[in-house]
Amino acid sequence: MTVETIERIKPEKVDYVSTTNACKACSPLGASVVFRGIEGAVPFLHGSQGCATYMRRYLISHYREPVDIASSALGEKHAIYGGGPNLKLGLINVMKKYGAEVIGVATTCLTETIGDDVPMILHEFRKEFGDLDLPTLVWVATPSYQGSHMEGFHAAVRAVCEQLPDPAVERHKGVNLLPGFVSPEDLRHLRDIFDDYGLAVTMLPDYSDTLDGPALEDYEKIPSGGTPVEAVRAMSGARATVELGAVLAGAEKTGGTALQENHGVNLHRLPMPIGLRNSDAFFAALDAISGRETPTRHVKERGRLLDAMVDGHKYISGKRAVVYGEEDLVAGLVAMLTEIGIQPVLVASGGNSGRLPAAIEEATDGILREPPKVMPGVDFYEIRNEAERLAPDLVIGNSKGYRMARDWSVPLVRVGFPVHDRFGAQRTMHLGYKGTLALFDRLVNAVIEKKQADSPLGWGYI
Ligand code: SF4
Repeated sequence: MTVETIERIKPEKVDYVSTTNACKACSPLGASVVFRGIEGAVPFLHGSQGCATYMRRYLISHYREPVDIASSALGEKHAIYGGGPNLKLGLINVMKKYGAEVIGVATTCLTETIGDDVPMILHEFRKEFGDLDLPTLVWVATPSYQGSHMEGFHAAVRAVCEQLPDPAVERHKGVNLLPGFVSPEDLRHLRDIFDDYGLAVTMLPDYSDTLDGPALEDYEKIPSGGTPVEAVRAMSGARATVELGAVLAGAEKTGGTALQENHGVNLHRLPMPIGLRNSDAFFAALDAISGRETPTRHVKERGRLLDAMVDGHKYISGKRAVVYGEEDLVAGLVAMLTEIGIQPVLVASGGNSGRLPAAIEEATDGILREPPKVMPGVDFYEIRNEAERLAPDLVIGNSKGYRMARDWSVPLVRVGFPVHDRFGAQRTMHLGYKGTLALFDRLVNAVIEKKQADSPLGWGYI
């Protein structure tokens, strides 16, 4: 009888799928990037020190800047009794050591699993230490077993948009921009575009300085720059929000929807402006919001992009590419590749929102005869297995694809996160006409370089 009972509760068959070199980083890492983009803020992981160390290492190797991430440093004892006391002590330490104006608390796998009630702990903290000059506290749930660094990034943007904007702020002419996870150079370019339209922009997050700052004589505990908290509070009164990401645009709850639902801010959801059509849509939205025509500078940049496409088409037409990385980034890249004549044969992501296939279909609709295979929620083992038989000429993605590109002897054009085997990831451009042009040049040159390297003649004139 006992044996029967035991057998009955055993699952009939268990399929285990092990992850081999994940095509994603972990969820609180994305949240840390967002908090790094708020002025005076310190990212704080409620979890063990190892998580913070891993994320710091990853971010430092990509951005090549010192990155401090505080931690409540939980051990075995706290896994049983809860991490509340350590979280409170950690917040006090960060206040004292950094003088933080904002502390962004993100949970980790451990604290999500033990079920720590972070909003309640923060509520208690505010009551217990109400006599102190407390920083602004914002928190986000980022269980890494439920998503990639992108889910953590978007969850943190949403948390900030839900928790900080002030309903009492009156309407103003400013515009909110939720740019997504792009390079600091892209952020600077986006800001310039809004400036050219005469639009006052609040970009959230803005790590264009904090993760790519100038050399300084003295070390800054909290790097200068970032979105001022007062500007975040005033996001509730903006005339519009522009939110970038074709995959994100299908999400039910985002930072943009929070501002729309809670404060009535008009929301424009657009794909990342990578490629001609996506950039056209982006500039058309700014034309409509500002009531002005596209500034001449950008009209000229569009013309230069078209000119480059005509000039460079002969090198890349018909090439086959494997593309992988964050969902919104690959959706933007695929939109661009299809319009420049490169056939994306495999589009993969560690993200698994369920919305990538539709975004790729939309990006290729009416242009590609043969849509690419789309693989969401995969690791590099699966990408390699699938891509090998597709015989790509080009691999486009982060540094993690280096081994497979090397084995196949094809160029790897590095985009996305992390890029830790090349220099200048933080200054790589992808967005708008100018960013697309920079990316186009890199793609064409990668193909030319490969042709030149393989040539027995050593052509010097191609
Ligand atoms: S996956 Fe979980 S345990 Fe691993 S570093 Fe991220 S939060 Fe920590």
